[in-house]
Amino acid sequence: MLSFSCVLVMVGQEPTTWYNTELRYDNGTWMSKPATTHKATADTTFIDALSQSLFHLFNAAREAATPKAADVLVCSRLIDKSLVKTTDVVGYVIAKGAQSIIQRVEAAAWDAAVGRAKAAHGNTAVAGMCIPAKDGVISEVYLPNGEPNVADTAFTLFHEFMHNKTRFAAGEDINWVHTRGGGGLATPGTGLRGMTPETAKIMHGRLSTVSNKQYLATGIGLKGL
Ligand SMILES: [Zn+2]
Repeated sequence: MLSFSCVLVMVGQEPTTWYNTELRYDNGTWMSKPATTHKATADTTFIDALSQSLFHLFNAAREAATPKAADVLVCSRLIDKSLVKTTDVVGYVIAKGAQSIIQRVEAAAWDAAVGRAKAAHGNTAVAGMCIPAKDGVISEVYLPNGEPNVADTAFTLFHEFMHNKTRFAAGEDINWVHTRGGGGLATPGTGLRGMTPETAKIMHGRLSTVSNKQYLATGIGLKGL
């Protein structure tokens, strides 16, 4: 049975309140409803809410063509790194003020990306990043000051997961996403929002077939890490 997992790792303090934006399916494109509600942690956690949004996006990709790209689809918090396959994706959710894994293990690449951001829009704010590091691909999303928006975080992380599914072994350019990713959240300058049917089909073709070792950070403090 083919299975695909998107596993999330919280780095730093998990938010206790957030904008609990839900996704809506609008003429084939997954968009977000207006962010109106705050959610406390009484009945769920931020990572659980993020996992649910990512499930919608990956499920659209899984079902975008026949046969389905995977029989089993799991989006969850990483609990055991020994279960992560090279066809899965791991996403690091970096709390405000917590150190980026990429910054820690790929300092030069980090500095270059932050420098590009500063040149492009005058500050060093970066929404997300994906780097093929020596010990595996690292995909990250950076939470903003204040309460994060679940849907925006999911869209940005899905964008980074598209970079993660680059065919590195075949020498493919990691930035294929920006011009051949199907538009919407794939395209920089769009706020990385909205997943189009084209993007779903493109990711369908990569979900279980592109195999890239994932970087599994040490010292995060979760079981198995
Ligand atoms: Zn990108």
